[in-house]
Amino acid sequence: MKKIQVAAVAVASAVTYSVTAQLMGTDLSFAVVFACSTAVFTAVLNAGLHLASALSTSSFRCPHCTFAVRVQHASAGETRRWQEITADHPRHLGDSRA
Ligand SMILES: [Zn+2]
Repeated sequence: MKKIQVAAVAVASAVTYSVTAQLMGTDLSFAVVFACSTAVFTAVLNAGLHLASALSTSSFRCPHCTFAVRVQHASAGETRRWQEITADHPRHLGDSRA
């Protein structure tokens, strides 16, 4: 598991702990508190993992058509290679002359 994913789990746990502590001070039943806590944990974790995924993704688009490539965890060499491929691919999408 990568550091940013561990951070997402830690943030989700902290937020869930805070919400659960506040809900425990009310007259809600254990089932309701448990359901709310798991829902908060799942939502915050999902948002954190989505953010982590977005931060590690690079997108490259052809300037002449709709061709696009998304690459995750790309090295500098891979990034350069995909930039060249998207800038000079054989057939532009939607171009009737190709
Ligand atoms: Zn193109």
